[in-house]
Amino acid sequence: MLKMVMLQKYLYLCRGRSGSAAAARMAFFGLTATLLIFSSYAANSKQQVEEPLQFTYSGEKGPEKWGTLNPKFSLCGNGKSQSPINIITKQVVPNKKLKPLIRGYHPVNVTMVNNRITVAIDYPKQTGGIIVDGKPYALKQMHWHSPSEHRINGKRYAAEMHMVHVSDDGNVITVATLFKNGPPDPVLTKLHKQFNELAYEVKSHEKAPNSVESFPPKELRTTPHKYYKYTGSSSVPPCGEGLTYLVLPKARSISREQVEGLKAPLDMECKYNARPCQAINGRRVEVYEE
Ligand SMILES: [Zn+2]
Repeated sequence: MLKMVMLQKYLYLCRGRSGSAAAARMAFFGLTATLLIFSSYAANSKQQVEEPLQFTYSGEKGPEKWGTLNPKFSLCGNGKSQSPINIITKQVVPNKKLKPLIRGYHPVNVTMVNNRITVAIDYPKQTGGIIVDGKPYALKQMHWHSPSEHRINGKRYAAEMHMVHVSDDGNVITVATLFKNGPPDPVLTKLHKQFNELAYEVKSHEKAPNSVESFPPKELRTTPHKYYKYTGSSSVPPCGEGLTYLVLPKARSISREQVEGLKAPLDMECKYNARPCQAINGRRVEVYEE
């Protein structure tokens, strides 16, 4: 139960401002409802699109203020194992017990949603997921940040993709992929039309289906040769802790146009949707390398 509460906190941004009806549904259906609300949250109506966000990435509700915006957000200000972090490679600890990250995703048809803070894809249970320490974690959601949230030796990348996985008992593992500027990313190329539709939808307040066929594609099903592992938090309020991050250091390539495409549908104060790096506070970052 504790884990489920944590997960719901992690996915807090999904709840939006849809009020008591949504809260009741979430209590009843737990995670499933949370994710469904996320899907319907921004795509819904003109009224919702125009309501103020609970937090943003600049201005009066920017990251430095998150901890004071709402009592439920206090960990954003005083948590001791927050994300993202700057990974210093000469301080990471090799762990021979870590296993290869096997990704067993089945292509499914999904819908892409704009929640104004990021653009996300929610996945059904049959998508499959990853196995970590012998335990399965189902892929629940994928979203993007630009620029990157994590840094490696102080270097910030052009973008970062988070693939959020959840075990049956509510533990959360986020696989973070970094992107550097260069040729277009083939995965985002497949989503070009949907990103355009989302950008248009925000401007016109019209609904668009934004459905995507056969996702995730094969590019996201390979086994990475190296990853960093550490315990952190949701990088959005309420910044709940106890999440595991697997950060893939082999940066993929993304074009400048694609980075603009990630930003276009978002609210003006969320186009730069990367939380600053947080204090490491003695946490250990482990590394798996083939
Ligand atoms: Zn994220």
